[in-house]
Amino acid sequence: MDILDRRTLIAAAAACGATAAAAAKNSNEPLIGAKGAPIIGPRNVEREQQNPDILRPPSTDHGSIPNLRFSFADAHMKIREGGWSREVTVRELPVATTMAGVNMRLKSGAVRELHWHKPAEWAFMLAGRARITAVDNDGHNFISDVKAGDLWYFPSGIPHSIQGLPEDGCEFLLAFPDGSFSEDSTFAITDLFAHTDRGVLAKNLKLDAKQLDQIPTEELFIFQSDPPPPIDADRIEDSLGGVPQDMAFRLMEQQPTISPGGRVRIADTRNFPISTDVAAAHVEVDPGHMREIHWHPNADEWQFYISGKARMTVFAAEGNARTFDYQAGDVGYVPKSMSHFIENTGGEPLQFLELFRSPRFMDVSLAQWMALTPHELVEAHLKIDRSALEAIRKDKQPVI
Ligand code: MN
Ligand code: MN
Repeated sequence: MDILDRRTLIAAAAACGATAAAAAKNSNEPLIGAKGAPIIGPRNVEREQQNPDILRPPSTDHGSIPNLRFSFADAHMKIREGGWSREVTVRELPVATTMAGVNMRLKSGAVRELHWHKPAEWAFMLAGRARITAVDNDGHNFISDVKAGDLWYFPSGIPHSIQGLPEDGCEFLLAFPDGSFSEDSTFAITDLFAHTDRGVLAKNLKLDAKQLDQIPTEELFIFQSDPPPPIDADRIEDSLGGVPQDMAFRLMEQQPTISPGGRVRIADTRNFPISTDVAAAHVEVDPGHMREIHWHPNADEWQFYISGKARMTVFAAEGNARTFDYQAGDVGYVPKSMSHFIENTGGEPLQFLELFRSPRFMDVSLAQWMALTPHELVEAHLKIDRSALEAIRKDKQPVI
């Protein structure tokens, strides 16, 4: 497989340990050298401590790049019997027009009800286990049990369900390749039944109208039910032999691309063919290391931070750059073609997801570009000695 076979994606970061991030810990005041002054007015110290690079921006930051972070901790919590959900859409993060995200929790037996929606659904299981089901437009059916580290993908309009399994259900991230999509605008089976004439339902389903007396009068969304039987007892015979393309993908069971400073696993149409509208990378960066300076030529990047602490600087051309801090539960965003890097600023491994509204993961590496361009030409621009460029080229040989 040619995925990621050309280089590391994560810089081994020889000298990046002692950066401004470390210096920022020394002060909770907007002071840089002789510039600035301590805050003497109202302040939110906890927020400031979470955002050292916003309180004390690197001197290279400049201009008016829009906000590129929103935390699920600041998102409205929709609480139901059996679980909850919260979402980050363009309403919360206006720059994120290509992707919306939902964080959902289902207790054991709890069901995200049978439904469908206009955009496709891409998902990553964060903790626990769930049973997922779908039936496609040709009448193939799909059922699978998914665990932490697994993905699933339901194409646009395909009806599906999610149910928490013992012992403690599950929590997962959903992503939809449309920033204005809301979990509140799904087509739900109970909503359809509540708003269809009973006589028509009975006629369509060849039922006695009395058999419809108990249908809910409004959408359930999430509801508590009993845990399902073992999966083999739960299968419905499908004369067509099931879906032609698997809707689940065991991402964390894949061999990662290993770099000196971390690990990367990619899921896109090259190894998860059904996922035509979302390409994904799961990235782990060890303490002291960084995801190298790069950009994406084909799509905006929507990020979800799983663990650890990070800072990202985004360069937007015309002299503009801005730095944000991230931690578990945060969403980040990078518009297409803007270069960026992500440093692990904490003491534990940093884990995050990069998602793209695209069938393919693609990125361009600054170091690779420099290393593979005639060295005297690069030297003429940057006054970097060409022997150093040759060393970068050697370092950037394929690692797999
Ligand atoms: Mn859905
Ligand atoms: Mn990126």
